[in-house]
Amino acid sequence: MTAMISVADAQARILAQITTVAPPHIVPVPAALGRVLAEDLRAPIDVPPTDNSAVDGYAVAHAPIPSGERRELTVVGELAAGGVFEGVVGPGQALRIMTGAPMPAGADTVYPQEVVERVGARITVGPIEHGVNTRCRGEDVRAGSVVVPAGSVLRPQELGVAASLGFPQILVRQRPRVAILSTGDEVVEPGETRKPGQIFDSNRFSLHGLVEAAGGTVTDYGIVPDLQDVLHARLTEAARAADIVLTSGGVSVGDYDLVKAVLQEAGGIDFWQVAMQPGRPLAVGRIGAAHFFGLPGNPVASMLTFSLFVRPALWKLAGRRELVPPRFHAVATEPMRKREGRREFKRGILEYVDDQWRVRTTGPQGSGILSSMAQGNCFIVIEEERGDVRAGDRVWVEPFQ
Ligand code: AMP
Ligand code: MG
Repeated sequence: MTAMISVADAQARILAQITTVAPPHIVPVPAALGRVLAEDLRAPIDVPPTDNSAVDGYAVAHAPIPSGERRELTVVGELAAGGVFEGVVGPGQALRIMTGAPMPAGADTVYPQEVVERVGARITVGPIEHGVNTRCRGEDVRAGSVVVPAGSVLRPQELGVAASLGFPQILVRQRPRVAILSTGDEVVEPGETRKPGQIFDSNRFSLHGLVEAAGGTVTDYGIVPDLQDVLHARLTEAARAADIVLTSGGVSVGDYDLVKAVLQEAGGIDFWQVAMQPGRPLAVGRIGAAHFFGLPGNPVASMLTFSLFVRPALWKLAGRRELVPPRFHAVATEPMRKREGRREFKRGILEYVDDQWRVRTTGPQGSGILSSMAQGNCFIVIEEERGDVRAGDRVWVEPFQ
C-alpha cells in the first residue's frame, strides 16, 4: 500500500510542504533569548562610538623617546568614563584618563598608570609604542553592517549585541503553535488509576518537552480513546488554533488504527514507510490549515521521528536558517548489529576518553525502551549502506543536547 522512502527523502518532502513562516512580533531584548530573529540586525551606529582609552592612565600625543630616557609631562586635566574633554592635548601635556573615556583631541596613545610616576601635576614617562592602549571607533561594529542575520537563534551574546546598538526591543518570529494528543484505549494519564492492561502516557510529555526545546508552544489535547468520531472531533478542534498537530500511536496497520481513517475524512494524508529503525510508520498530511504528523506510538520511535521530521518543519515555520542539528564522528567501542538498506538510530553514550570521542549503546534497543533515551546522550546514526559495525569503527553521533 505504501512505498518505502528514505529518511532524507521524507525530510525533503516534509520541508517542501512548509511554505509559510510564522509572523514577526516585537519583544523586549531580555525576552528574546532562544527566539528566531525576524530581520537582519543592522547597526545604526559605530560601536564603540568614539576612539577611547583601553586602560586607566594618561593620554598623550605620541612623541619618540630614546630608549633608556624619560620625559616630564604636565597633567592638564582628568577625564572619567562618560565625560568629554573639551580642550586639546598638546606637546608636553598629558590628560589623566579612565578606561572607556573618549580620547581627547590631540592624543593618540595612552600610558597605563602603572608605568607612570606622578608628582603633583607632573608625570615622568619612558618610551612607548605609538597608538597603544586605545580602542578605535567602530572596531567592534561598523555602522550599516549586519551584525546578526535574520533566522538566527538569539543567544545571550546576541541580546548583548542588540543592546550595544541601542535597541531596547527585537523583532522575532512568533513561536509555532503545536497541538499534541495521545491515542489509545490503553493509555492513561499519570496520576490517575491504571487498570490492568493499561500504561501511563509518556509520549505527550516527551513530545511536549521536545516542542518547547525546539522553540514551539504546546496546547495539550490529552488522551483520545480509539473511537473514530471522538478522534475526529478532537483533531478538528486541535487544528483550529495550531500550526502543527501531533499525535502519537494509532498509525500502524492494526484494527484500532484510526488516525488513518480519520485523516482521510478530515484532510489530506500520506502514509510513509520510512526506511529506518526504529520509527515506522509515519503519517504526514494536513488538517485544515495545520500540518499534521502522526507519530508512532512506541515511545522511542515517537521521540526519534519528532527529531527527524517534525523539528525541521517546526524550525522552518519558525524562520530558522539552520534546520539540521550538528553531527559528529565518534569511535564505536563495541560492535553493533545493523541491517543494510535502512538507517538505524541507536541510543548512545558519548564520552571523551583519551583524546577521543567514543560511543557505546545504552544496552537493549527496543523502540519501547524509553529509559534508553534517559540513559543516553546521543543518537548513533548508522547509514543505509552500512552493515554491522565493529568495535573501533567510526560512526556518526547526533547529541540530544
Ligand atoms: P500503536 O502505534 O498505537 O499501535 O502503539 C504502539 C505501541 O506504543 C503500543 O505498545 C502502545 O501501547 C505504545 N504507546 C502508544 N501510545 C503511547 C503513549 N502515549 N505513551 C506510551 N506508550 C504508548
Ligand atoms: Mg494505539
